[in-house]
Amino acid sequence: MRPTVLCFSGLDPSGGAGLQADIEAIGQSGAHAAIACTALTVQNSQQVFGFEATSKELLLAQANAIVGDLPITCIKSGMLGTTDNIAALAEFLTKHADYKYVLDPVLVANSGGSLGDQATLVKAFAQLIPLATVLTPNTVELRALTGIEDLEQATAKLFEMGAHAVLVKGGHEDTPDYIRNALYIQGELISETKCPRLEGEYHGSGCSLASFIAGRLALGDALKDAVHHAETWLFGVLKKAEVPVPNGQRIPKRF
Ligand code: PLP
Repeated sequence: MRPTVLCFSGLDPSGGAGLQADIEAIGQSGAHAAIACTALTVQNSQQVFGFEATSKELLLAQANAIVGDLPITCIKSGMLGTTDNIAALAEFLTKHADYKYVLDPVLVANSGGSLGDQATLVKAFAQLIPLATVLTPNTVELRALTGIEDLEQATAKLFEMGAHAVLVKGGHEDTPDYIRNALYIQGELISETKCPRLEGEYHGSGCSLASFIAGRLALGDALKDAVHHAETWLFGVLKKAEVPVPNGQRIPKRF
C-alpha cells in the first residue's frame, strides 16, 4: 500500500479547502490520505458561517483507529479549531515521534471567517511548533504566531520557539506581480521561489500546498524537493481553478 498521510483537518462543504483539499492534493502527490476530522464547518466559497469542533476524545479515537492499520509515515494538520484538539494532537505526536509532521497553522479562512479563537489558538500552537518537520505559515499567520511585524525577525522567532523548518508563503504580501515563498531550515534560508501572481482569490490553496508537501515527504522526498514539487503542482492547479459564483473564491482544480 502507498505510504499514508494522516490529516487532522476540518470539513469545508464547498470542497475547496479543508479535508477535501487534503485528500485531493495527497492523492495527486502519489501518497494515500487518511483523515481524523477536527471540525465540521458551515461555509461556502464566499464566507464562513460557523463550525462545530470534534471533541478531543473523538478526534484521538479516529486517529488511533488507523494507527497500525495503515502505513502512516506523515501527519498533516490544518484547521484544529480548539485548544483541546491542539493538545490532543500534541499528545498523539509525542507518542509517534517517528512520524514526519507538516503543521499548517490555520487561524482564519482565506475569506476572512473565523476558524477558532485566534488568541487561544496562537498560544496553544506553541506546543506543536517543536514537533513539526516543517511549518507552512502565510505571512498573516507568521505575524500572528510571533507577534512580530518584520518577517525576517518573525521567522527567527519561530526558530527560537523550537521550529526545525519553516516555509513562509508570501501570497498575502503587497507584491502585485509575483508571490515569493521562502524555505528556511534550522534558521537558514535554503531556497526562495517567485511565481507570477495569478488573478483572483483562491479557496484552499494553503491546504493544498501543505498537503502535497506532506504527501511527498511520506513518499521519501527531502524537504526542499517536496516543497519544490508542491509549488510547481500548486501553480498548475491554481491556473485551472474554477470560479463558482462571481463573488466566490476560486476553487483549485486539483485533478
Ligand atoms: N481548513 C478548513 C476546514 C477551512 O475551511 C479552511 C478555509 O476555509 C482552511 C483550512 C484554510 O484554507 P486555505 O488553504 O484557504 O488557507
